[in-house]
Amino acid sequence: MIDTHAHLFWNDFEKDLPEVLQRAKDAGVSRVITVALDRETGQRCLEIADAHSDMVAATMGVHPSEASNVTEDDLLWIEAQAGDPRIIAIGEIGLDYYRGETNQSEQETLLERTLELARQLALPAIIHHRKAGKRTLEIVRQSGVSCGVFHCFSEGIEFAREVLNLGFHISFTGNITYKKSSLPEVVAFIPLERLMLETDAPFMAPAPHRGKRCEPAMVREIAEKIAEIKNVNFNTVARVTTETAIELFSL
Ligand SMILES: [Zn+2]
Ligand SMILES: [Zn+2]
Repeated sequence: MIDTHAHLFWNDFEKDLPEVLQRAKDAGVSRVITVALDRETGQRCLEIADAHSDMVAATMGVHPSEASNVTEDDLLWIEAQAGDPRIIAIGEIGLDYYRGETNQSEQETLLERTLELARQLALPAIIHHRKAGKRTLEIVRQSGVSCGVFHCFSEGIEFAREVLNLGFHISFTGNITYKKSSLPEVVAFIPLERLMLETDAPFMAPAPHRGKRCEPAMVREIAEKIAEIKNVNFNTVARVTTETAIELFSL
């Protein structure tokens, strides 16, 4: 399995990252993509990927929550680093209207600029779309970028159809295992070949670990849930999602 989205630079992993990665390996995880949120964490992603090059790959990008903090200097640095052959994707980028839409235009400008970076470098884009699905999709469509993933997918079937038509993949976190989640019907709708696994660690721990620190080993529970929903065996989910991730991210 491949955990296509984790934040290994988070403080939570400072003390025991080698053990965390070993547990992931023991659970059947061959690769973890550590996803940047801004300049500083992008630098950390590269350091972690270097220190654990057998297992970890890095991205470069700016999370929409950082739209008001990121400086022009940071953006120029990120754009320069993104061409490094160790960088396998641009992300995470996107829109996040969870806290209202106060800096909506800043977020949109940032998304357009980072999508342009993905387009120029022909790298897949890792798209965050919390409470902003429709607008995110519009901007992605206008950008001409047609390769990437809508991560931590949280929308319905109609939206999923549009994302797939655009050529993008979809990944789900532990939220599909939560009791009241309506996401299983969306999982059922999406062809297995267009799905990928992710934890978004240290957040979004799947049931029965909900509320605890999430780590890449828990991608197993997410794969098990997908297998249950789609009524296929676990090994099929593990194999197919791994092949998809290897191809999308050129791992
Ligand atoms: Zn995200
Ligand atoms: Zn994330």
